[in-house]
Amino acid sequence: VSVARTLSVALSGLEGALVEVEADLSPQTPLFRIIGLPDKSLGEAVQRVHNACVNRGIALPRRRLTVNLSPASLPKHGSGFDVAIAVAALATERGMDAAKVAETVHLGELGLDGRLRPVPGVLPAVVAAARSGVRRVVVPWANRDEAELVAGVEVCGAVCLADVVRWHGLDVDAPPLEPVTLTDDSAVDDHVPELADVIGQREAVDALLVAAAGGHHLLMSGPPGAGKTMLARRLPGILPELDDAAALAVASVRSLSGEPVTRLSRIPPFEAPHHSASVAALVGGGSKIVRPGAIARASEGVLFLDEAGEFATSALDALRQPLESGSIVIHRAGITAAYPARFQMVIATNPCPCGNYGVRGAECVCPPQAIRRYLGRISGPLLDRIDIELSLRRVSVASHGALAVDAMTTAQAKERVAEARRRAAHRLRDTPWTRNAEVPGPWLRQGPRAPEPVVRRPIDAALHRGMLTLRGYDRVLRVAWSLADLAGRGAIDVSDVGRALYLKKGVPA
Ligand SMILES: [Zn+2]
Repeated sequence: VSVARTLSVALSGLEGALVEVEADLSPQTPLFRIIGLPDKSLGEAVQRVHNACVNRGIALPRRRLTVNLSPASLPKHGSGFDVAIAVAALATERGMDAAKVAETVHLGELGLDGRLRPVPGVLPAVVAAARSGVRRVVVPWANRDEAELVAGVEVCGAVCLADVVRWHGLDVDAPPLEPVTLTDDSAVDDHVPELADVIGQREAVDALLVAAAGGHHLLMSGPPGAGKTMLARRLPGILPELDDAAALAVASVRSLSGEPVTRLSRIPPFEAPHHSASVAALVGGGSKIVRPGAIARASEGVLFLDEAGEFATSALDALRQPLESGSIVIHRAGITAAYPARFQMVIATNPCPCGNYGVRGAECVCPPQAIRRYLGRISGPLLDRIDIELSLRRVSVASHGALAVDAMTTAQAKERVAEARRRAAHRLRDTPWTRNAEVPGPWLRQGPRAPEPVVRRPIDAALHRGMLTLRGYDRVLRVAWSLADLAGRGAIDVSDVGRALYLKKGVPA
């Protein structure tokens, strides 16, 4: 044999494409090179592959060896092609099952000692391989559980390069090595905090229910200690569980982030980036390797921005486009990566930098300009996407007992949300939308389910008096529909509109 072929996968964001790895041996002076648009990290594969082979006692042929990755037009980056390159190179001369080698996708980085090191993105890569008809994959031992989440694919979890070539029928004698494992222990936790544990914030819990029912973005303002974070953390537990496709997408983003993925979670993700987070940490990016940001990790779940007024303006501005499109495209030095960003946003803010503005019995020490600037950060484009604005107060100890008696549990809230969502999806079955938050204004105002004049009267009046913008008008209608869905009504009535107006802060009902 002088030519050998095998397969790997190039990822661009969550999308993967098969890459053919072809090794060609010619009888000239020893030289080992890789062609086909490799980046720097991939270029270093020559050294890693060479050492790995030598150290596992399966040295490369001492002749001219050219490895070509095709299609050449496809950008390839990272170290995940090492194993495919090594196997193709070795198969030019050594007796392996050529047919099996040719139809197997190899993923993984090689350590200099010949061990397979885990790589990010194994799950989306195996998904892409399976979609292309591939039925066999070789992955690093640490990534085997992740690869096995994809149905219909035979997975070989290899500790070292000798395991891989043995799997392909070559008998090599190499002492066993300890597998490289993932050190990150941030495994998915399916525990959701109990809604009934929220004491004395009945109105806020109701607003959370409405937000969940309609998929509405939510703003909570209130002093420290009012329970904003406690409430936000309870939103994923009352949202509908993820279906197969969504659960796989969520796990794929975690995989790309380099987290261990051992199973699919049905609980919508919850991401709470710190206000000091960089734009790259928030929306994705990175200097060498592009990684998904918090908004991609929150896709299909909840993005919680606590102390939103403390985030950099550039970071908040970067949220505008993904909020519009439901995805984020990152461009970095010839690399384009698209990630999903279909998240429900919960923004929390103090009323002012010191947190005491408007709080009874406390003194605000902030100058008026500072307060305006603080709240101004999250106004405008971001605020335009928020349907519900909620003011929270600290709950006094005295009110605890009375309000906790009939508290709604997470299970009860989840069932009510699911029922409301079913009603909305049924009503919107002939449209491109499934949740109230997605429905555009013209459809709300003029569509087949537009409310009667008598129902619209309070908001028509507010609009004409200039107390409500047209966007605000549409937000009220959206929320009114979620209230009607929760109440099990087939149309919105005046009380829904009144309540929706109330949930839009600063507008009298
Ligand atoms: Zn203050």
